[in-house]
Amino acid sequence: MATAKSENSAMKVASDSTLDVERIRADFPILSMVLHAREDRPGVPLVYLDNAATTQRPRQVIQSIVDTYEQHYANVHRGIHWLSDQSTDLYEEARGKVQAFINAQAREEVIFTHGTTESINLVARGWGDKFVQPGDEILLTEMEHHANIVPWQQLAERSGAVIRFLPITDDGQLALDALDQLLTPRTRLVAVTAISNVLGTINPLEVIVARARAVEALVLVDAAQSVPHQKTDVQALGADFLVFSGHKMLGPTGVGVLYGRRELLDAMSPFMGGGSMIRRVTTAGFEPAELPAKFEAGTPPIVPAIGLGAAIDYLNQIGIDAIHEHEMRLCRRAHEALGSIAGLRFLGPAPEHKSGIVSFTLAGVHAHDIAQLLDRHGIAVRAGHHCAMPLHKRLGINASSRASFYFYNTPAEVEQLARAIDDIKRIFRRK
Ligand code: PLP
Repeated sequence: MATAKSENSAMKVASDSTLDVERIRADFPILSMVLHAREDRPGVPLVYLDNAATTQRPRQVIQSIVDTYEQHYANVHRGIHWLSDQSTDLYEEARGKVQAFINAQAREEVIFTHGTTESINLVARGWGDKFVQPGDEILLTEMEHHANIVPWQQLAERSGAVIRFLPITDDGQLALDALDQLLTPRTRLVAVTAISNVLGTINPLEVIVARARAVEALVLVDAAQSVPHQKTDVQALGADFLVFSGHKMLGPTGVGVLYGRRELLDAMSPFMGGGSMIRRVTTAGFEPAELPAKFEAGTPPIVPAIGLGAAIDYLNQIGIDAIHEHEMRLCRRAHEALGSIAGLRFLGPAPEHKSGIVSFTLAGVHAHDIAQLLDRHGIAVRAGHHCAMPLHKRLGINASSRASFYFYNTPAEVEQLARAIDDIKRIFRRK
């Protein structure tokens, strides 16, 4: 079958949960790239620190994609032929892997979408359009990605609902005290990010779920930055919906997941109409299919989903707890190394409250200049508002620079980043 064969993988976790990062890196061809080489200059090794935007893929995932296209590819759930059965089996096997990875109770609760953005829009349409009334309230937070703001604003425009925002503290944590005032009997949904894509803050979801329950509101967790980096157990968490993207966890682009509690998904209307999502169509109307097909109209992201399954195999072999610990170490290292640079201001809380995302500003240097100059050192970071304009406004800035780590990054890379920023600082001081 086309799923990743991991027995030849270089990944091994030492018993003290430190990772053998050099061996892991050998699985990622792109990480050994050398950039900006010229005839008169040898070039610089790539230091990839843009993992919150998208991660890289190991050979095992790339190979699963190649194998699928070469040996197992046909449309799913449709053909009554051998090849279609093969690809259907692999596609459904991938769903099972996602189910196990997030500990969903049933495989029908795992809907394949094209990404986090589509998953949130699906809920805003499928649940929101059906159940949200004028005057109902939806509670977001000031640290949300636009993907977890705009679909709710659109829903509010359609339905007459009111959007409220839970504020953040000055050090970038949720101001939980404000929940007393913001959660009301009219709150229908709390939509919150598990980990901020800018601040790196790990949010106390258990508290939020419990508080939302007390007013009978549902909770949607934007887990785009958490599922790839720390253990997710949707049953223990008690979330109603949880969404994430394959490309941020070693998988291909074009696949994402909506987890939803079965009774909610059953009650919702299909987001899109078309093939596969129906049980019966007549000239008078249609009857939707059972879950999960009800929400997977048209040809689904077959090969990306299979690739995501291979990515999950890879992550499981390394161990999500070891990944999390490694990233926390890198985050602490980054705070130590960058913290001594004059004029550098970290966004977000102290490392113990953060994942492997370190955003900052540097006095007198625009974030885009930082990113461009770092690129000369081969260092890839992101600059701008990171699809979180309300958050940047709250912080009183227009843009920031963001270094974001994954388990294949090393302390040496973090130090390289610090040295390069120090260099940039000196260049700008001379100007
Ligand atoms: N939510 C968060 C917290 C994110 O970081 C991102 C992507 O950066 C998204 C949502 C949107 O994900 P996608 O572009 O894969 O749909």
